[in-house]
This record gives sequence, structure tokens and C-alpha cells, in this order.
Amino acid sequence: MKYVSTRGDAPSLSFEDAVIAGLASDGGLYVPSEIPQFSAEKIAGFSSLSYEELMFEVISPFVDGDIPDADLKGIIKESYAEFRHADIAPLTKIGRGEYILELFHGPTMAFKDFALQFLGRVFDYILKKRNKNVTVVGATSGDTGSAAIEGCRHSEHVNIFIMHPYKRVSDVQRKQMTTVLADNVHNIALKGNFDDCQHIVKELFADQSFLNGGRLVAVNSINWCRIMAQVVYYFYCAIRLGAPDKKVAFSVPTGNFGDIFAGYIAMKMGLPIDKLIVATNENDILHRFFANNDYSKSELLHTLSPSMDIQVSSNFERLLYYIYDEDAAKIAELMIGFHEKGISIDADKYQKTREIFDSYAVDDEQIVKTIAQVFEKSGEVIDPHTATGVCAARNCDKNQNVAMVILSTAHPAKFPDAIVKAGVKEPELPDYIADLMSREEKYDVVDNDIEKIKEFIVSN
Ligand SMILES: *Cc1c(COP(=O)(O)O)cnc(C)c1O
Repeated sequence: MKYVSTRGDAPSLSFEDAVIAGLASDGGLYVPSEIPQFSAEKIAGFSSLSYEELMFEVISPFVDGDIPDADLKGIIKESYAEFRHADIAPLTKIGRGEYILELFHGPTMAFKDFALQFLGRVFDYILKKRNKNVTVVGATSGDTGSAAIEGCRHSEHVNIFIMHPYKRVSDVQRKQMTTVLADNVHNIALKGNFDDCQHIVKELFADQSFLNGGRLVAVNSINWCRIMAQVVYYFYCAIRLGAPDKKVAFSVPTGNFGDIFAGYIAMKMGLPIDKLIVATNENDILHRFFANNDYSKSELLHTLSPSMDIQVSSNFERLLYYIYDEDAAKIAELMIGFHEKGISIDADKYQKTREIFDSYAVDDEQIVKTIAQVFEKSGEVIDPHTATGVCAARNCDKNQNVAMVILSTAHPAKFPDAIVKAGVKEPELPDYIADLMSREEKYDVVDNDIEKIKEFIVSN
């Protein structure tokens, strides 16, 4: 299997090289040159598999022998060994035909563990084989940083630097990053906001000469390996609800469009999905696209669901690529025009997206109301991101004969503010992390100055 850029002007790469490369050199994103197909019989045959066994079946056509089967199975097993639920991704019923898929039983209590526990180990495997070391650099407004650190902390070949805006992440989020005391983990609290962090990361990638021949690697959700790992739980969950004989609909709390795009790939592989609902918060660039064919930037708002506070959704480019039947020249043209005038696509292509996707934007007041409603009806405490998914599912047209699954992307204890606002008792941290707030921290506060950051990285 080869990996090609959505903009068509970068070298095609093997699976392993695409994982290390992250972004393509033409600014595009890597996608597989073909999407593997599973027949209904094949999907039916998956029904008795464990999560790890299913993962091997779903991802091995993408890895295509780059990692030998026995090694791949080992990496998968280790990646999910620290999940705190025997089912890895349990389903809980919250209403008639309405379920939440709990994706928060990993080490950092958000769904990002599904991809980053795996990606960290894949990095380590590839680098060990090549006898190379890399420097991972990332900016985080919260969840990505801790999940990336947890994924890389055991790696002997990765030095990881995560930048978060000083005093602007929640205490739980900061502690999840800064209490990892491994020598290869470096937390930088930047005296600036999240945009400043992202800006510095971009500049570091653009000019890596300060590393004297070293190499930076990205862990954000443009990495194909993350998307691929997330395809698995769509299969796992749909099969338990009767696939391939029955269709399932999914409502997905969405920011960078990584998670829901994995659902779209599952559908292209043959999983019978009735509808994919894009749930956004007030940062609604994606809702504006699906509602009005208008994909354009607007001001960044801070909401009760901070992990979805984005202006631009990087993985949306991958969807456009498939909607335009893999016409890379067209995607390059659309993306170049984006910053100046936004994107509005041809009417027939837009129609094609509407046959698969629906969308809804949820404000903070609706988030709080939904948390209260779900608690009252089912006794379940959901986090504010999950609440956007539930609210969107309830406000979009539904096929009454199809089960609706809302992806529950974070544990409620990670975002207590919204839950207290809803009048629901503050959720407790799970046992394994109950002492988090009293653990020792290690981080450095650094000025918002790229030269200072370069010095810090080089000296560490
Ligand atoms: C990252 C994140 C999201 C958004 O996922 P995308 O793949 O960026 O769309 C939603 N909820 C939580 C809790 C997250 O951490």
C-alpha cells in the first residue's frame, strides 16, 4: 500500500514513512492509495473477535506487511493494556435506541488515547528498527498533549516537547502532562495563548536547522496512523449493534474532523452506516459547511467544550479529496483559495456530502441543559464534549429504525465545570488517578519567543 498526498505534489510513501512524515511536503495530507474493502460476510465473521483481534483485522490492509503480523499484534496488545475497562470501548444505553460509546477508559481519560497509545509505540518500533531518534514537538490546549506524552513516555527513541499556554489549561489537564517525570518528556508552559503555541510549532517545523541534522515529528491528528486506529471502534461498536445486517448512525463531537473522518473511512470500507452527524460547539466552521456549503474561518470562541475550540479542521481536506474522487489538483486549488475566500464546493459534490453527513452546532447553554437531561433520564453523567454529540443527535432528522451511537470522547471528571453548572454532582477522578492533584510536577515556564524555545529544545 502506498500513501499519496491529497494535493498530489509530494512523493508517495510506504506506511512507515508516511507515519514518520506526518504532513506531506506539498502541504497536503497523506491518504492510502486505495481503501480496503470488507464484504458483509467478512464483517459478520468479526463478531466474535476481541477489540485487539478486530483491530489487527481492520488495520493490517493499511499497514500491508510494513510491520510483520506478529510484531503488529504485539504493538496492538501493548497499546490497549492500560485501558481500565475489559471491553476497551463499552456501550451504554441512555435512551430508546440511543447509546453512548465510552471512549475514555484509556490512561488520559479521552478518546485520543485510542490513537496515541498506538502511534507512540509505532514510532518507537520504526525508529528502533532504523536506529534513529526523533524529537516530537506539539502544541496542546489540553487533551492531545497528555495523550501524546502517555503514548511516548516509554519510548527510547523519542524526545517529546509539549507546549501548553501558561495558566490556560485546566488543573487536571496540566497535571496529566506535568506529573509524567520521564527524562524524555518536556513540558513547556508558554507565556502566551494556544495560538501562540501553535504558531511557534509551525515555525519550528518550517526551519529545523537549529537541530543540527535532527528531525522533528508531529503527533497531531493529520497523522494517518491516528485516523486508522480510530476506524476500529466504529466497526467494534456497529457489530455489537447488529452490523452488517443492521445499519447504525453515529453522532461525533468534532473539532479537527479526525474522529468523524475515521467513521467515514469505516463506511467506505463497507461498514453499513446510516448517517454521520457532525456535532460542533459554537466554533461551527464545519456546521456552516454542511448547512450552507460555506467553509470559512471565523473568530475563535472559548466554550465549555475546549477540546473542540478550533478555527480550522485540518482533516476536512481528506474528505474533500474523496468527495472530489481523489482529484488532487482540484484539492490543491481549493486549499490554496481557502485563506483568502474560504471554500464553497460544486453543487453536485455538496449534495454528495449531504447524503452521508448531517450537522448541528451546540452552544454552552445547550451543553449544560443536555448534561442535566441525560442525568435525569438515565443517571449517566456525560462530559461537555459528549453533550454536544447527544444534543446534535436529538436535533437532526433521525431514522427511527436505526440505533444512534454518540461517541463519548472524554470522562466527565476531566471537565467538571460544565457538570457542576448543570446541577449534577461533581464527578470523581477514577481510582487509578485519584491522587493526581497531589503528584509532583515538572515543567518549565518559557517566554513567548521562538529563540528561547529553540534554546530550550537544544539544551534538553
Ligand atoms: C480532540 C477531542 C475532540 C475532537 O476530535 P477531532 O478528531 O479533533 O474532531 C472531541 N472531544 C474531545 C474530548 C477531544 O479531546
